[in-house]
Amino acid sequence: MAENKIPYKIYLEESELPTAWYNLRADMKNKPAPLLNPATHQPMGFEDLRPVFCDELVKQELDDTTPYFDIPGEIIDFYKMYRPSPLVHAEFLEKALGTPAKIYYKFEGNNTSGSHKLNSAIAQAYYAKKQGLKGVTTETGAGQWGTALSMACSFFDLDCKVYMVKVSYEQKPFRREVMRVYGASVTPSPSETTAIGRKILEAHPGTSGSLGCAISEAVEVATGLEGYRYVLGSVLNQVLLHQSIIGLETKAACDKYGIKPDIIIGCAGGGSNLGGLISPFMGEKVRGEADYRFIAVEPASCPSFTRGKFAYDYCDTGMVCPLAKMYTLGSNFIPSANHAGGLRYHGMSSVLSQLYADGLMEARAVEQTSVFQAAELFARVEGTLPAPESSHAIRAAIDEALKCKETGEEKTILFGLTGTGYFDMTAYQKYNDGVMTDYIPTDEELEASFAQLPKMD
Ligand SMILES: *Cc1c(COP(=O)(O)O)cnc(C)c1O
Repeated sequence: MAENKIPYKIYLEESELPTAWYNLRADMKNKPAPLLNPATHQPMGFEDLRPVFCDELVKQELDDTTPYFDIPGEIIDFYKMYRPSPLVHAEFLEKALGTPAKIYYKFEGNNTSGSHKLNSAIAQAYYAKKQGLKGVTTETGAGQWGTALSMACSFFDLDCKVYMVKVSYEQKPFRREVMRVYGASVTPSPSETTAIGRKILEAHPGTSGSLGCAISEAVEVATGLEGYRYVLGSVLNQVLLHQSIIGLETKAACDKYGIKPDIIIGCAGGGSNLGGLISPFMGEKVRGEADYRFIAVEPASCPSFTRGKFAYDYCDTGMVCPLAKMYTLGSNFIPSANHAGGLRYHGMSSVLSQLYADGLMEARAVEQTSVFQAAELFARVEGTLPAPESSHAIRAAIDEALKCKETGEEKTILFGLTGTGYFDMTAYQKYNDGVMTDYIPTDEELEASFAQLPKMD
């Protein structure tokens, strides 16, 4: 059969939207380690997690055996507003680099929230509504997750309480206002509205907050209010499951046009976009059906994979959440203040952590000035202004394409372009003004943080 000519932008038909999410855990030989109760260190089951998360999401979280979960019709209806998302052949970037490599990117920024996070937000809001809940609470750092969740909650008429890391609340007033347009209430964290917030403020007056603090506050509120649950935008197994929609669409588009990626690249914060993008491809790899190189790209200022420890750790600062086994920098680790973008979480998805520990995936850390150089080039030649997070993947894709230029290899490189950067202009301003700096934590700083990992027996 003749291959179809590959267009610049590959759009699947609406009728080709995947109808089930793929659960990579079902095919993994070494399963990700279970969540543990922070007090007893015993694995947490359905009953233990129910007070925090919606029932259906707890089932998804704990299920390591079911390979496919049907996507409910109401979620598919919402997906239709912005999916299928395009797979773009980056012809202009290839030309600018003079590389024989073929470069493709899956673009997830074509919705109002501006990132892939909406794929899981709508699923989590749907299950909360189906359970008859009044609302959900969450944290947001850079603001993309809070924006996505507020859109999803307004669609299902659910209350949405967002704890926003104080520094972002102050520096990104427009993100905050988008959330309010969709009806969410937004509180800067740490706040006086929770016991843990008051405790953190007492210990660190004037703190600019962290994701770990905001998580603790959101969990406290969810577990203390009748009819509320907590939802999280990354790291968890359920979030990777929902984000598999990215990889499934990408795989379908690749198969349709005979594209076979050699290298698949994604930025890694908590691991949800990368986990989603690679899932069907990694499934083939772990089943022995095909081989690919996978590269996780993280900031040198928050290097969970490349310099972290594979250990059980707290997911939040207040130590109210379950313990997760993951590559971690320690739950008290806060990236340096001159780190401009997201990707600042101390830990990493347990699924990706296990794949990395098993040698099935590579990781590399990149410095932010080189990330913004890549972002600038990408914006100028491909048109889209990328999110700083996504630009970590662009950096690595460009580096791989430049290697191909040296060796003459015509590799096919695929990366995830997770979002747009319109709300990140403070970071771009620093870059444009030439005042952006790089910071790499010292071994001593990391050791001090590792010393506070929970002692496991
Ligand atoms: C949140 C976010 C990320 C990082 O989160 P992951 O869970 O690692 O995917 C990357 N890019 C964008 C645009 C984001 O909003």
